[in-house]
Amino acid sequence: MSDQSLSGTDTRKSLKRKMPRLWRWAVPVLGTLLAVGAAAATWGYIDAQRIDAQVQGAMTDRDNARRILQAAVDLESSSRGFLLSGRHEQLADYHAALLFFDRERNKSIAAVDRGLDLLRESSLADALEVAMRTRARRIEHYATGGVEAALRGTQASEGKRATDDIRRLVGVYVADREAKIAALHAALGWRQTAVVILIVFSALTTIIALAFAHRQIWRRQVLAEGARAASDRRGRELAALVEMSELLQSGVETKDVRAVVAHAARRLLPGLSGWLFAFNNSRDRLDLAASWKGSTANQSAASTEPPDHFAPSECWALKRGRPHHGDPSAEGGGLGCVACAATGSGLCVPMAARGEVQGVLRIAFGANAPAPTAEQTALATALGDSVSLALANQALRERLRGQALRDSLTGLHNRRFLEEVMAQMEAQLARDGRPVAVLMMDLDHFKSINDTHGHAAGDAVLRSVGLLLTEQLRRSDVACRYGGEELAVLLPGCDLAQAAERADMIRQSVAMLHKSAAAHGHKAPLPPVTISIGVAAAPQSARQLADALKAADAALYEAKRAGRNRVTAAPLHSAGPHPPKLEVVPAVAMQRAVSSAAASSTSLPQSMEIG
Ligand code: GH3
Ligand code: MG
Ligand code: MG
Repeated sequence: MSDQSLSGTDTRKSLKRKMPRLWRWAVPVLGTLLAVGAAAATWGYIDAQRIDAQVQGAMTDRDNARRILQAAVDLESSSRGFLLSGRHEQLADYHAALLFFDRERNKSIAAVDRGLDLLRESSLADALEVAMRTRARRIEHYATGGVEAALRGTQASEGKRATDDIRRLVGVYVADREAKIAALHAALGWRQTAVVILIVFSALTTIIALAFAHRQIWRRQVLAEGARAASDRRGRELAALVEMSELLQSGVETKDVRAVVAHAARRLLPGLSGWLFAFNNSRDRLDLAASWKGSTANQSAASTEPPDHFAPSECWALKRGRPHHGDPSAEGGGLGCVACAATGSGLCVPMAARGEVQGVLRIAFGANAPAPTAEQTALATALGDSVSLALANQALRERLRGQALRDSLTGLHNRRFLEEVMAQMEAQLARDGRPVAVLMMDLDHFKSINDTHGHAAGDAVLRSVGLLLTEQLRRSDVACRYGGEELAVLLPGCDLAQAAERADMIRQSVAMLHKSAAAHGHKAPLPPVTISIGVAAAPQSARQLADALKAADAALYEAKRAGRNRVTAAPLHSAGPHPPKLEVVPAVAMQRAVSSAAASSTSLPQSMEIG
């Protein structure tokens, strides 16, 4: 499995990779636009305020000029009314106008004059001065000489001219102010439009920036959550693999391997059915070693029973040496294995460890299911690798154990194994009382065979005797090399009589060994050899199996003493059940052995005893 927790740097890199180039530029660009828009809107607002103040100023100037004109008109009409009526109350406006002019001389009147100066016009203050002087003189004349004096004292047109002059100057000034107001209004108009546009633009930019930021945060959250979930999932997968490996490494038996693998597969590939096929001993066939069923979604595949076994040549994954996805149910017929054809779409993973393929793991996806994802393939491969390593270790353990408990020359078990098995059989004997026979054997005059034919020939004899025993004994019998040229056999379920009979068959076969070896075309002919066998059985010869073995050894000694090449049974145990009648091995067999030995001019003992 790929190792899988995403570090912070990896997450950042993956986020950067997943962020489109456009969006990477969008942040600074949108930020700049937002700043420019906000600055421009602020500037536009301040400028509009400034222009508005100018408009207000121009309007005030205009209105002041009009008030000055009004006061001048009031001055004239008031004085004229007084002259015509002689009533002093008519002079109220006249005095008000004088007061007004006096108050405004340095204010609005001066302001109007500055404007008129720029327009290269004559002074309004001067014109007002003329008007006031003319009117004052008339009123003065009126006071001294009446109406006629007043009319005589000043030219009537002089006052009127002054008023006309004031009217003209004010008119020029007001027109100038109005023009300025109009120009300022125009400027204010486009500035306001620009400010509105900029504010709208800034608002839109802000909204876009916020939306973008929100989207980015959301995406980052989603990605981070995805990365966290993937990391958690990989952690769980790794834990499942580690747990499975630990369980498998702890020397479990084959049936446990099935349960452990099925449990781990369900955790790693939830909902998927699967099968584990392992090579048989001769490696010409793959046998179904474990199977597990997935969820309902996968039932169509799960309901199809996998084959019990198939040949390696039928499997595409083995032929290709890598995971193979086959879907025989696919349109056009996918490249599926013959053996897996019934199971629909599936992924087969060859399981190799220690340079040797241990078997095939098949994960079923169901009919017409999509091809497995890279992650599923990686998980199935990791599962297969762990299982194959465990299987290889188990095979190695069994081989080592076999080597530790077997004799390398004869292929028979060794004495240690015999002792282990005896302990088990002893327990069984105590439980159910079924007899167990023991044969103790020793090759006769083996030293002289070595001396005459060489040590290698002696080895060949020992090897052949071992092979002979393996062939002649039942699967439940246990034959072992007890030491040197001494052999021991345990025959569970065999009483003394049956054991003696079988011992004699062995004895005869050993005596014929050199002939059958020649018949089988051995390169170097085997020297003739005979064997002496002591037979005992528990509980007939002894209550305990260990004692029966001693009794068999003693019987062997008896057989040697009596002349060798014979089977001797141990005496019956006094407290044991009534002994079976032990028969002497038929003379024909003995005759055959003797005659064949005579024919090969080897010295053979002549008798056989059943004790
Ligand atoms: P007896 O009939 O009394 O048993 O005579 P024997 O010669 O067989 O008995 P003895 O105990 O005198 O000799 C046993 C011989 O077996 C001596 C030893 O060199 C030989 N021997 C023991 N183990 C091996 C082996 O692995 N290979 C060979 N070639 N000879 C062995
Ligand atoms: Mg011997
Ligand atoms: Mg011996």
